[in-house]
Amino acid sequence: VDAFQKFDFLFKIVLIGDGAVGKTNLTTRFCQNEFNSESKSTIGVEFATKQIEVDGKNLKAQIWDTAGEERYRSITAAYYRGAVGALLVYDVTRFSTFENLPKWLGELREQADSNIQIILVGNKSDLVDNRVVSKEEGEKFARANHLSFIETSAANATNVEKAFTSLLNEIYKKT
Ligand code: GDP
Ligand code: MG
Repeated sequence: VDAFQKFDFLFKIVLIGDGAVGKTNLTTRFCQNEFNSESKSTIGVEFATKQIEVDGKNLKAQIWDTAGEERYRSITAAYYRGAVGALLVYDVTRFSTFENLPKWLGELREQADSNIQIILVGNKSDLVDNRVVSKEEGEKFARANHLSFIETSAANATNVEKAFTSLLNEIYKKT
């Protein structure tokens, strides 16, 4: 439920990345402050919303999460249509999700608007003993591809709000 109804800007944000990296839990953590330890690949709605205030303006984020189709088929063009921001998510405990980032960037370049603002998100930073992708590797990939970068934990809420709000701030600054 939104704290306020009126808004000055509506921004469509998409989450992309391999299955089970934490896209759904990042979304529910930001929009509802909830976390689920079981992976549910289907959700009832196409997107969740959250409003934040920047410079006295109400920004309404319409956050699109996949229904799990990234696991077995490609994401449709409708998912990317009109998106002004993307969280490109990998799992710091599974190297394959980091290696697949170029594939996701390629899909973004093909399907999304060329002006889309992207933040690279290394999720599951709470799992310190299982980490296989270092923060430096994430930073290096982000730098090489001109992306913002942050590490998050949907499980303990570290940096989740910051990831979404810094992306929304960057989008707002471009309007
Ligand atoms: P999605 O397929 O990308 O939407 O990933 P989910 O959000 O469904 O998460 C997949 C699994 O990873 C679930 O079992 C989650 O509980 C777990 N998970 C997601 N984010 C985190 C996190 O930050 N830390 C930990 N420890 N587990 C997480
Ligand atoms: Mg999901």
